Amino acid sequence: MTETPDPKLLWFNFLKVFTRALVQINLYKADHPQVKQALIESEGLLAQISETLDGGDFSITLDNDKLLINSTPLIASDKLPNSLRNLFTKFRIQTITFTKGASGDDILALCQVQAFKGDPKEFLKERGVERITLNESVYAKVDTSQPQAAQPAQAGQAGQPGGPAAEPGENVADRISGQGLENALSTIAGRVTSDADEQRRIVEILTAKFKEEIVAEVKKALEVVHREKKKVENDMVRTESVMTSMADGVVVVDKDGKIIMMNPQAEAISGKPLAELSGKKIVDLSQIENQVVSLAREIKSENKEDISTEVAKTGPAELAETVKKATAIIQNEDGKIVGSVSIPTDAAKLKQVEQMQQEFIANMTHELRSPLTSIKAALEIMSRDASKEDASGRGILNTAIRNTERLNSIITDILDFSKLQSGKLIFHPENTSAEETAREAADAMRAWTTSKGINLRVTNEPGVPFIYADRRRTVQVLINLISNAIKFTPQGGSIEVSADAGKEALDGFVFFSVKDNGCGIKKEDQDKIFEKFVQVASGEKVGGTGLGLAITKAMVVMQGGRLTLESETGRGSTFRVGMPVYRGQADQAVFEQLPEAPAEKKSWWKKLLGK
Ligand code: ADP
Repeated sequence: MTETPDPKLLWFNFLKVFTRALVQINLYKADHPQVKQALIESEGLLAQISETLDGGDFSITLDNDKLLINSTPLIASDKLPNSLRNLFTKFRIQTITFTKGASGDDILALCQVQAFKGDPKEFLKERGVERITLNESVYAKVDTSQPQAAQPAQAGQAGQPGGPAAEPGENVADRISGQGLENALSTIAGRVTSDADEQRRIVEILTAKFKEEIVAEVKKALEVVHREKKKVENDMVRTESVMTSMADGVVVVDKDGKIIMMNPQAEAISGKPLAELSGKKIVDLSQIENQVVSLAREIKSENKEDISTEVAKTGPAELAETVKKATAIIQNEDGKIVGSVSIPTDAAKLKQVEQMQQEFIANMTHELRSPLTSIKAALEIMSRDASKEDASGRGILNTAIRNTERLNSIITDILDFSKLQSGKLIFHPENTSAEETAREAADAMRAWTTSKGINLRVTNEPGVPFIYADRRRTVQVLINLISNAIKFTPQGGSIEVSADAGKEALDGFVFFSVKDNGCGIKKEDQDKIFEKFVQVASGEKVGGTGLGLAITKAMVVMQGGRLTLESETGRGSTFRVGMPVYRGQADQAVFEQLPEAPAEKKSWWKKLLGK
């Protein structure tokens, strides 16, 4: 007689061997000897258990925290090996029932269920397993007022993780849509497993993954923002540095364009200290030589309109043009300023070029004049020697002499003008007789007036004071005016040259007049004719450079005098030159140049008392 084994021992043995089969099927193929061995042993033990049950079913139930065999509690669920417990929890199986005659192949199919993702019952059915059946868990109705504590019925201990279990048929998506992230994850985990630890781990893993992804996404988004920020910062720095290298001098103005601040470089450029320019309009700066001012139009009018790109420019046109041509902005593809190229065309360089040009004109005119003087001298000798009978030959020679004189006067004009521009026209003022000056100029022009049939008179006022002027230059001034009068007065006309004490009641001046009764000058042309290169239309076609009056006026003004004109078309013109009366200026100048008298040596007690 064989001894009936202890049923609990058989159960434990079966659970042990079946668990081994569950593990090994994950490691080896189904026909591996170790798997086969575990299945044979499981089948044998099942048969033995069936004996003890008189052919009745053998059921294993995982209920809450206990494992029950045929409703008899056998062991606490936390003592079970994971693989066995997972078989129940993964598919929410509550009970596995083995009917008598369950084979090794049936047990193999049950083991393979672990790796299956679908419905385990279907899986067994498809494999023709009839002697093993699975019963799913039945979930408790959820108390929605306590979502945090709600648990699946079999796992349901308050305080354990896991969201409220869904009722069968309830849509999980609907449930989690109203929950916070952690609760939603707990709910999902609760659907996956009833194991509290497993649920907690799932929630932890998902939360960590979620966090990881969010951090990565935020980092990616921030990288774009950082890149953009860096780009803007770089652009700003670049524009600033370009602006700084373009304009070291900085002038700050208020809304009316009045100067508030200037840095030392700007002071150097303007040539005046801030103290002097503060409060003045910046546009007035352009009146200082060699300055160009560009100003946005809005600065002057405080309107609310959109900013205009227009800029108003003041300053000499040629200089503004030169400055514009000297600098080019370097832009990138997006039109942002990234640099500038400049050609060094500072005012000093311009001045240097101007000076070279003036020196060239001075040299050239000088060179032209020497041969001209020889030609004129030769012509005069020939004219003197020409026989009185040869009237036509003499006439030709006289024309040649007149032309050399004209050429000479043009060269003199150009030379004087270039000297004026370069500041090399020097005056030697002295105590000079106005009457003699007027007469000398008239006498020099007499031959020409005679040949043209014009009556030239000198009508000096007796007792005119002496003037303080460069005699040679003042004679030249009057000669210029008389030669113009001759040019624009027809044959038979008259010219009157005089010196008077000043009808203008201007104290301290003696006035020269050159009055003709020629064609006269139109009112609108009377200011223009003193500008360089200006020749206004007149009845008579005459030569000249248009420089004569510009030079004449400059020579008068530079000696402290004044030049005025009164004229009427068809009735002649009167040019008046006012020159300062001599009042001992030269002696005064000499006195001013004397070294200062040495300061009286202070005695020690005066120094001490500050006296
Ligand atoms: P230019 O050397 O060519 O004569 P100026 O500067 O001396 O040039 O004179 C400029 C212009 O002024 C002349 O072209 C002429 O039209 C006008 N003008 C000067 N003087 C007289 C005058 N006495 N009568 C009429 N027109 C004159």
